[in-house]
Amino acid sequence: MFQYETVENFLSGKTILVTGASDGIGKCCAETFASYGANVVLLGKNQKKLEAIYDKIEILSPGKAIIQPVDFNIATEGDYQNLSNSLAEQFQKLDGLILNAGILGARSPIEFYPSDLWHETIQVNVNSAFSLSKALLPNLKQSPDARIIFTSSSVGREGRAHWGAYAVSKFAIEGLMQTLAEELEKTSTIRVNSLNPGGTRTSMRKSAFPAEDPKTQPLPKELMPVYLYLLSEESKPIHGKAIDVREFEPANYLPK
Ligand code: NAP
Repeated sequence: MFQYETVENFLSGKTILVTGASDGIGKCCAETFASYGANVVLLGKNQKKLEAIYDKIEILSPGKAIIQPVDFNIATEGDYQNLSNSLAEQFQKLDGLILNAGILGARSPIEFYPSDLWHETIQVNVNSAFSLSKALLPNLKQSPDARIIFTSSSVGREGRAHWGAYAVSKFAIEGLMQTLAEELEKTSTIRVNSLNPGGTRTSMRKSAFPAEDPKTQPLPKELMPVYLYLLSEESKPIHGKAIDVREFEPANYLPK
């Protein structure tokens, strides 16, 4: 796994919004970024879980976190606009948007896939990423060096039987990433990439592979060097790339 040594407080002065900050990889991102000095906006569905993460961050990195409960399944364009306005009032700029929240949907052949769960999975995994990036682009444009990291999966790069809406949602995320990256390439300093975390020891992984020994999968904290690198100045030339955490090596993504 990629290792990245950086200086203490290297995210100081930056504000980073993490979706799905109440659990798994997103929770670890939020705690890690705050520990390096960033202000973190914790977005998740479950307010109680967000409050618990907030309390933990408050002890280790006081004054660094704010909570933003949003249920992507029911949020409206107006809610996203209000979020953008509220962030603009609290912070001069947004330096990072980690679009990490997701649900697994059903593990089922398409023929029997429950339609309601199909729509919910597309709503939570894709439509929210569109709405949130659209609403927050003005906030990100205030930063001299912002990053958007979309979260993909190996089944978003090659389809796999029985992964249904989850796989399709991740293919859509790759398309959204590529489209936005090309739009922003020459008109902005925002850098946009997608990241496939690979199998990681979280509750989503447990739901997807209930018979697997969880200890065979890395903990979210083992992924953090890649996230930190992608938030660093060094990663500035990396744009529009579909990145795999497990095989991450900057030279493979930096222009030759
Ligand atoms: P997780 O532990 O299940 O956490 C999912 C997060 O998404 C939670 O914070 C959850 O919030 C949030 N979320 C779910 N539904 C939401 C909704 N309707 N509105 C707002 N937030 C919602 O998942 P994870 O394993 O950390 O996965 C994080 C990302 O990595 C996902 O995009 C996943 O597809 C991707 N990924 C994971 C793996 C893996 O092996 N773990 C592999 C490849 C890709 P609440 O807790 O408040 O419900």
